[in-house]
Amino acid sequence: MRQTDDLDPDRHGDDGAHERSVRPVRMGQFVGQEKVKEQLRIAMEAARLRGEMMDHVLLHGPPGLGKTTLAHIIANEMDCFLRSTSGPAIERAGDLAAILSNIEDRAVLFIDEIHRLSRPVEEVLYPAMEDYQIDVLIGRGPGARAIKIDIPKFTLIGATTRMGLLTSPLRDRFGVVQHIDLYDADALQTIVENTARILGVPIDEGGAREIAKRSRGTPRVANRLLRRVRDYAEVRGDGSVDTTVADETLRGMGIDPLGLDDSDRRYLAMIIDKFEGGPVGVDTLSAALNEERETLEDVVEPFLLMIGFIQRTNRGRMATPSAYRHLGRRPPENESGQARLFDP
Ligand code: ADP
Repeated sequence: MRQTDDLDPDRHGDDGAHERSVRPVRMGQFVGQEKVKEQLRIAMEAARLRGEMMDHVLLHGPPGLGKTTLAHIIANEMDCFLRSTSGPAIERAGDLAAILSNIEDRAVLFIDEIHRLSRPVEEVLYPAMEDYQIDVLIGRGPGARAIKIDIPKFTLIGATTRMGLLTSPLRDRFGVVQHIDLYDADALQTIVENTARILGVPIDEGGAREIAKRSRGTPRVANRLLRRVRDYAEVRGDGSVDTTVADETLRGMGIDPLGLDDSDRRYLAMIIDKFEGGPVGVDTLSAALNEERETLEDVVEPFLLMIGFIQRTNRGRMATPSAYRHLGRRPPENESGQARLFDP
């Protein structure tokens, strides 16, 4: 990657600078997601052999799992310029036309939250993705006419937490579509150890494991928790991190042994105590908890589904017996004395 030009630098909020400093830059440093890496490697190699641009790539999955990081890595490995922006930052069709016509030749264009592009903006993308052309309207009124102009060759990398909100014409124009899953504790432990090395935090295996287990399957959370644990270790101890230091810090932050935080517990308690274990619709939950539906669906639910604490049915969300037990409640029983819900 020869240059990073962030068109929308505030995308990552306060964590932005921290994240950039610990972000892997080569595919070999990107931990886990073996299938995704393999598919991307094949697509990159094929493009290299043909001397063409790599196919457009769509990455989908919950936030904090490495979609932005992969876009940077691809640009780096393909020795391309990287331009970053996001769906909500591109308000009008003309904004995207301007970005595309000014892009460097053979660049990677990364669009985060691509499901939030408006329809007119999206329509600019179709011919750009297919033929490296955009339609420009010349003149006004009845005399106006559309002409096609060529734009530089580029690879679009789109990221979304909401595959379901993407229109099919847009989805169909991506050659490589990959889902990024939550990470297991082994992968997260490696990520914590790598980040600790970069930040110069002395940490033993137990400390890294404890943080990994309590990171909700999410590298961004793992890195954030490591920074909090480091603060605690520096203020309360000699700066080094072991299981006890990690456990004390995380307990102080209200993060339980499974990694659930206040909002997870509030969500589960709401289903169990107010809706008798469900099923309850996500909109009802969102109103009752005063939380955005998007936050529930993107951040809270994927992890609770992964650990088998909730089930998503077409009538709504249901809490499983494991969730009842984790919150110290007795799971409901039906007439025959068996648990009402399937226990994962
Ligand atoms: P997303 O774009 O999916 O929201 P990011 O790419 O911004 O996620 O990743 C969030 C943070 O987690 C970054 O600091 C990134 O370096 C780190 N990270 C994510 N995935 C990995 C991985 N597989 N290996 C190492 N670090 C990772």
